[in-house]
Amino acid sequence: MSTKSSADWDMQVLEREWQTLMDELAAATSLSPLRVRAQAEIESIVGETFKAWPGLNGDGRVAAWAKLMTTATQSSQSMLPSCVSCGECCRVSSPTLHPDDLDLVREQKLPWNRLYTLRRGEAARSVSGAAPFVLDREQVKIRENSESHHCEFLTEERCCSVHIDRPLQCRAQACWDPAQARELIGQPRLTREDIFGEVPALLEIIRAHEARCPFPKLHVACEKVATAQGDEQMAAAVNEVVEVVAFEEVFRTEAAQRLDIPDDVLDLIFGRSFVELVRLFGFRVDKGADGSRTLVPRDAK
Ligand code: SF4
Repeated sequence: MSTKSSADWDMQVLEREWQTLMDELAAATSLSPLRVRAQAEIESIVGETFKAWPGLNGDGRVAAWAKLMTTATQSSQSMLPSCVSCGECCRVSSPTLHPDDLDLVREQKLPWNRLYTLRRGEAARSVSGAAPFVLDREQVKIRENSESHHCEFLTEERCCSVHIDRPLQCRAQACWDPAQARELIGQPRLTREDIFGEVPALLEIIRAHEARCPFPKLHVACEKVATAQGDEQMAAAVNEVVEVVAFEEVFRTEAAQRLDIPDDVLDLIFGRSFVELVRLFGFRVDKGADGSRTLVPRDAK
């Protein structure tokens, strides 16, 4: 909290104090700061006060801040039984698609290049924020921002850019009533077979990729590097990872060229590349000018 009286706050300080208040109210309740803020800002007095602030005199600001605190405190007492577009659930993870979403995918309302496949054996995070778990079957998901993991359809204004056509999981996700989302747990998920069932050439190449480049193959190879004893074992283990990564890269590149698959849908068709996934195990594969590949620690210069 600012030590200065609210009479002296400019807009920057007001914004900072408002956020501090949201954090304090969130800590005192079971709501997240985003939810507390979004709920409070539904009250028209909040927007009006922020707008009027530069024109208020000292006494006016003190009175206005007191009203803002009362409004926010009352609003945080309980969770409204509706979506207030706080964006909280869209930040934890992106939705996994279900068979109900197939028409949205077919009609390109959820375009292929905004989706990716998590393959069997990969780790997934649940929207509840619980610990990651290993997938025993594949999932098709909306892409996430690589840094923040926010759903790619979440805009900077906390809006969903596909709101009308959002997937089933998002429609079921009601933070004020988790039972709705819980009902989806264990329900069948959309698969690549569902999406590409009518394109035999694609299905065939997806199956061939699964058979020759399954994710557990990369996992096992990386584990060997982590547990190798002595130079000889280490060299063999490193070589195996490099070969597994290189093979997968060549497979997807050749398949993409042969079937004319655009680069930006490869992560849906084949899942994320081993070149990308090897980073999950703390490594990176660098390619030399002569085409040779070297396994290095992920963050090596
Ligand atoms: S699709 Fe829309 S509602 Fe669903 S997680 Fe993404 S931004 Fe949120």
